[in-house]
Amino acid sequence: MTSSEPEINHLIATVALKIWQSLDLSEILQATVDGLRELLKCDRVIIYRFDSNWSGIVAVESVAESRWSLLDNIIKDPCLEESWNNKYRQGMVTAIADISTATIDECHRDFLQNFDIKANLVAPILQPMKGERVEPQEDNNLWGLLIAHHCQQPRQWQESDLNCIKQIANQVAIAILQAELIYKNYQQLRQRKLAQQQAQQTRKFLQTLIEHRTEELQSAYQRLQQELIRTEQTQIALRNSEASLRESERRWRSLLENVRLLVISWDREGKIEYVNPFLLELTNYNLTEVIGKNWFTNFLSSGEQEQAKAIHNQILQPSFSSSLYYQQKVTFPTSETERTIAWNCTQLRNTQGEPIGVTCIGEDITEQQEIQKKKDEFISVVSHELRTPLTAIRGALALLAENKVAPQTEEGKHLLQIANSSSEHLVKLVNDLLELEHLESGTIELVKAEVNTKELMLRALDRVQILANKAKVEIEIVESDINFQADGDRLIQVLTNLLSNGIKFSEPNSTITLSAVAYNKPSPSILFAVQDHGRGIPSDKLESIFERFNQVDASDSKRKGGTGLGLAISRNIIEQHGGKIWAESVYGEGSTFYFTTPTK
Ligand code: ADP
Repeated sequence: MTSSEPEINHLIATVALKIWQSLDLSEILQATVDGLRELLKCDRVIIYRFDSNWSGIVAVESVAESRWSLLDNIIKDPCLEESWNNKYRQGMVTAIADISTATIDECHRDFLQNFDIKANLVAPILQPMKGERVEPQEDNNLWGLLIAHHCQQPRQWQESDLNCIKQIANQVAIAILQAELIYKNYQQLRQRKLAQQQAQQTRKFLQTLIEHRTEELQSAYQRLQQELIRTEQTQIALRNSEASLRESERRWRSLLENVRLLVISWDREGKIEYVNPFLLELTNYNLTEVIGKNWFTNFLSSGEQEQAKAIHNQILQPSFSSSLYYQQKVTFPTSETERTIAWNCTQLRNTQGEPIGVTCIGEDITEQQEIQKKKDEFISVVSHELRTPLTAIRGALALLAENKVAPQTEEGKHLLQIANSSSEHLVKLVNDLLELEHLESGTIELVKAEVNTKELMLRALDRVQILANKAKVEIEIVESDINFQADGDRLIQVLTNLLSNGIKFSEPNSTITLSAVAYNKPSPSILFAVQDHGRGIPSDKLESIFERFNQVDASDSKRKGGTGLGLAISRNIIEQHGGKIWAESVYGEGSTFYFTTPTK
């Protein structure tokens, strides 16, 4: 009963194929032991795997009858000699044909017979300690044994049987190596998978953490953004209110700096804290001379100080509300002239509402007051001027009406004449006043047309000829013939007035010269001149006689029959033409009245 070469090769091929086909070691080993038992036609084939201390376990078996099964038995041969192991390590196959007769240790024989073994064939399954070679060598690791048993009778093992089991054991070794490699790979894979799983879990954990964090961050970001928007809005609002504050301050400042009113602020003690440029302009002070100085002691005369202090304290009273108006005469040391200021004052308060100072807006009403004074004077003069002829008329008419004087008598005729001339004077006076008023208010418009100097002078002469004849005054006209643009009637009115004045103030047999020449100052003009040899005008009156009711002598108008308004009217007419009028005189020798009028 020997196994043939092709059969062995077939089994080896089958086992090798199994190894390639299957990765399951127990399946491979099972197929191996089954195949080997069939091949060797023996009762039992086992694979015995060593544990530590040379004990081991029957890992795989193939048995002819179940009563011979040793599967899963842990077997430790107490008699297994080191020398056997050495043989196995060297890859040697041992064969015992008959256990009962073999020259083996008795103890070993008992051990073997215990497992119904009549004959055995043992091949080592070796695993390389290092490297992957399965060639028998010294440091091969004895993994286990591939054992064939004959349980019914002894058996004479053939060389081919030994060869077969050796080759099969080698294949088993390969399968185990492969399985271990696979196992290692599997382990690595498992570890890798585990690591992957762990990584995945970690990633998941991290992801949820990140998502959670992201959510947190997002909401924090949103909160931050809202906060930012709110801050930005607040800043915009702040900037807007700052801008409007600046704008209102700018307006205030520009108002304070440009207004033609005095603006001044004091602290509680009367120290100056603010003045506007107009105040400096009016007083001729510069800022450093004013700021921080005490107003009362430095800028007011001792007479004004007491009243000013009392008003200042009155405004500082906590109960003070609204504003206080008062007038004050102030003589600023730098401007010398006395100015009248109308102050409008109010209290300055801090944020707690406590009075901390006074601010006043002052109007320089000096000029206004002067105008008012002039108006008052004018009214009194006019009423005086009107009253004079009226008194004369009333007096004369009263005497006649009460029959104290008979109208037919010389005295009566004289009274009537007074009444008549006085009423004429009155009419003239009223007319002149009205005319002057019209001229000054600009309601009379000049009617300009082409006129001629000679013609104007002749027409004026015409009007005063009778008066001149009466006064025995000769009027001489200097040759002139210039055409120009003017309101002819108005210029004749001026010339007539100047000629009649000349006549009035000239002695009989004297001459008045009337002339008109081209004049180029400041622009092309005509210069008219009326020269008399009368009593002349004192130099201090040369200017004032052009004002209303202003005379060299207070009795001039009365005696000479004038209204005292002629020169004022003349000046107005000439100025409306854009010219100038003035008088030159040597007192006692005569006067010359000049006026210019532009040619266009
Ligand atoms: P009146 O009607 O009084 O003449 P005017 O305004 O014409 O009024 O003149 C004002 C005053 O000027 C005269 O009252 C007189 O005192 C003085 N005056 C005007 N012209 C002459 C002159 N040619 N010679 C001297 N005094 C003159």
